[in-house]
Amino acid sequence: MAISREELRGRLDGLPRLHMAALPTPIEPLDRLSAHLGGPRIFVKREDLTGVAMGGNKIREFEYQIAQAVERGCDVLVHSAAAQSNQSRQTAAVAAKLGLKAVVVGRDDAHAQSQGNLLLARLFGAEVHLPAPQEQAAVVAAKMEALRAEGHTPFHTSTDARVFRSVAYVDGALELLAQCEQQGIEPDAIYLCSGAYTHVGLVVGLKGLGVDWRVVGISPSPRNDQQAAEGHAELARECAGVLELDLKLSPEDFESYAGFVGPDYGVVTEESKAALHLVAEQEGLLLDPSYTSKAMAGLIAHIDDGRWQAGQTIVFLHTGGTPALFAYAKELGCE
Ligand SMILES: *Cc1c(COP(=O)(O)O)cnc(C)c1O
Repeated sequence: MAISREELRGRLDGLPRLHMAALPTPIEPLDRLSAHLGGPRIFVKREDLTGVAMGGNKIREFEYQIAQAVERGCDVLVHSAAAQSNQSRQTAAVAAKLGLKAVVVGRDDAHAQSQGNLLLARLFGAEVHLPAPQEQAAVVAAKMEALRAEGHTPFHTSTDARVFRSVAYVDGALELLAQCEQQGIEPDAIYLCSGAYTHVGLVVGLKGLGVDWRVVGISPSPRNDQQAAEGHAELARECAGVLELDLKLSPEDFESYAGFVGPDYGVVTEESKAALHLVAEQEGLLLDPSYTSKAMAGLIAHIDDGRWQAGQTIVFLHTGGTPALFAYAKELGCE
């Protein structure tokens, strides 16, 4: 049985939350892109404009997730990923804003120049480490142990209280729904770059409210689609549990495609490069090299193969990541 919006709002409001993001994020028509592609009408939901530290989806996620860190009395936010990780930049910024210490363990990969996200993480005052990729896991483990030995209570933003990142996008689903209603937008599908949390939160929110919009995820990393769906279903059940939603959630609820990644995470492909240039040139809108350009390449491929047609409506959720552009001039053919 679907829950009412008021009831869901009430349950979300019962959870700890830090109000940091500039919400609601705008939703805008991409008319020139839609005309150029000759397919469905495309709108963009600007989660790249969440305000703090050049925005992105983690800022919305952190409202609920980092609230848990604060509840637990944590005094250090830790993140570890690629050198150009958006989440590392956002972790560093939110730590600064809250007066906490930030530790970023990146890696000495192909984009470890002090540019883009890495430059910003440094500006936000994070302690930055860039070990060789094969040493990264050991460096993080040692750092966590050292912090604890020094009397700190570290919070790892990838793993700790992770379900609250999806909870934040249940809230995002409420926002999107209200906005679409106000603007008379009736989506046939939502497209997004799907790591896990945003996708899962949207599906739980929409399903909980009894809204049958299709949500299509495009993976930024190589993975098995069926295994991803199983993992998403598990996270979704946990998320529904936090909100006491009585929902049947199964892998079939999670449609995602890893076929647009190319050789690896963070590696620009011909298609993602073309999508990034196209959206920039048609709309004056920036996508990013690792996530949204691949999601857009997926959407364009699906339009090209006839899955979506004129008369239909797609909402593309822009999850952010644009600061990384500055470390990708060469791959994007702009050097
Ligand atoms: C982290 C990230 C994602 C994936 O986010 P989830 O939290 O897994 O939903 C997608 N796009 C960008 C730009 C990101 O930084």
